[in-house]
Amino acid sequence: MDAFSAQPPTWTEKATHARGFQCPTCTAESVEAVAVWLNRRSPVLTELGRRKWQEFYQCRCGCVWWGWSDERPPKEPLRRPNAPE
Ligand SMILES: [Zn+2]
Repeated sequence: MDAFSAQPPTWTEKATHARGFQCPTCTAESVEAVAVWLNRRSPVLTELGRRKWQEFYQCRCGCVWWGWSDERPPKEPLRRPNAPE
């Protein structure tokens, strides 16, 4: 499982947009997800001119959800070996 691969995993196809950056089914946080994929190929510009992208999470409960990267709580940093900063 490569969170930074270019092609989206098939499990992202059924993802739903989650509010609060947690699983909409069981409220587990993103750090507890069993799989992660970042849609880094399609970033969008925020009002502040920063880039954000979709982050897909496959929860341990089986639910698949996504949230914007700038909505992720600071306490939940993702390991990002190729971070643009
Ligand atoms: Zn869940």
